[in-house]
Amino acid sequence: MSFDVIIIGAGPGGCRAANVLASAGKSVALISQTLGGECLNYGCIPTKTYLWTTELFEKISQSQNFGLKTTEIKLDWEAMKQRRKQVVEKLKKGLKFTLERAGVKIIEGTGALQDASTITVTQPSTLNQEPSTLSASHIILATGSWAVSPKGFETGGKIVSSREILDLPQVPQKLLIIGGGAIGVEFASIFSTLGSQVTIAEMADRLIPNEDPDVSAELARLFARKNIIIKTKTLITPEQITDYDCVLVAVGRKPVTQGLGLERSGIRTGEHGVIETNDFFQTSAPAIFAIGDLAGKALLAYSAEREADIAAAFILGKKPKPLLYSTVPNTIFSSPEIASIGLTEPAARQKGMDIIIGKAPYSANAKALIVDSRDGFAKIIAEKSSHKILGIHIIGEKATELIAEASLAITYKLTLEDFAENIHSHPILGEILKDACEAALFYVRGA
Ligand SMILES: Cc1cc2nc3c(=O)[nH]c(=O)nc-3n(C[C@H](O)[C@H](O)[C@H](O)COP(=O)(O)OP(=O)(O)OC[C@H]3O[C@@H](n4cnc5c(N)ncnc54)[C@H](O)[C@@H]3O)c2cc1C
Repeated sequence: MSFDVIIIGAGPGGCRAANVLASAGKSVALISQTLGGECLNYGCIPTKTYLWTTELFEKISQSQNFGLKTTEIKLDWEAMKQRRKQVVEKLKKGLKFTLERAGVKIIEGTGALQDASTITVTQPSTLNQEPSTLSASHIILATGSWAVSPKGFETGGKIVSSREILDLPQVPQKLLIIGGGAIGVEFASIFSTLGSQVTIAEMADRLIPNEDPDVSAELARLFARKNIIIKTKTLITPEQITDYDCVLVAVGRKPVTQGLGLERSGIRTGEHGVIETNDFFQTSAPAIFAIGDLAGKALLAYSAEREADIAAAFILGKKPKPLLYSTVPNTIFSSPEIASIGLTEPAARQKGMDIIIGKAPYSANAKALIVDSRDGFAKIIAEKSSHKILGIHIIGEKATELIAEASLAITYKLTLEDFAENIHSHPILGEILKDACEAALFYVRGA
């Protein structure tokens, strides 16, 4: 069978590319092991479904602060797992409908390149038979990434990855999380509220080491308040896990390239097995593209989708604008939430930039008081001479929503004045961004 485009991998990147290309009239086959990929089945959606429940529980536990009287409420792990499955299934149904309506042929199975235009598909039900062969003028690889397990921490028994932890038969009493990055701190938030004694071991000198140090410090302060034990500059060995009844390994992810047949199709890989691509996600085999986690640029669902848009536009003969990764926000859905875009303070200083900083605490924001979420802050970093905004960092209530406005400031190179003059309604949490800009401007005027 022959198609205009074959896509291997049906995560956010693969599904988006399939939808765009089929909607533009191309014949498209999508080879799918699990429709929706890591994001829908094991990542973004399951974790955020759990976080919604644990955050709701935290809020209701403080109900007396809102003038509410409640009887005892309890978290129900079994019911949470059921609800997560329902949410995932509903979204999967919607995704399948959207793709089929666009004309995408979804083929269940595992795809492998035979050469630069031919793919074989092994279907789960026909494992003992010859795989079917498909050909296409363009191929997009979107096979995602897998969780790395260091030696001695292979999953099995009480050692789990971000997948198995979703289905634990019961909430662990003592949970060790190895890795204090985004995935580690999200699960720390979930399981500490569920009642586990959580310890996070992080090799670097602070949690979420890619974020601004002030944000890491605030997260550590708020996690300590939840009795989460944080061990930084700590490299755990397999002998040190006897005290824990569950160990989550969240130390990073690697591209899924094994068995894909890269070597048969002239695709070059670089450091850590990442496929080399140009601005349009074209590999060294010009008719083959690699997007999403597999391309290894930003391991996020929304950057995978944008990469899909760019690769699809290129295949359609358009001239898409390359993706500027400095305009991709980071979002961590821990409790408290964290979101950032642009330069951190140390990164700006390392570049030798003369900067000004404005900070606004949630505690001075009317809406934050109304919803009783007074922890956290917004921090804005701007160039001193031009007032151009270089970085925005938020930790606190709805940070992952507020970052959308911040993204515009970075993408469109706004100044502190531009941002502060943009009228914000009142009372909203978003006023902290305006307040942080005004704090930076006040600093300049006062200096
Ligand atoms: C716990 C966790 C939480 C996360 N939370 C967020 C979040 O809140 N927001 C966010 O933006 N990102 C989040 N991410 C990251 C996000 O899931 C990924 O960046 C995103 O899924 C990448 O999309 P993708 O299309 O590149 O690949 P994936 O979603 O990984 O999909 C690739 C698919 O390809 C399949 N596949 C692999 N090999 C083959 C083959 N040979 N043939 C056929 N199919 C194949 C895989 O089985 C998989 O289904 C999270 C990740 C994890 C692990």
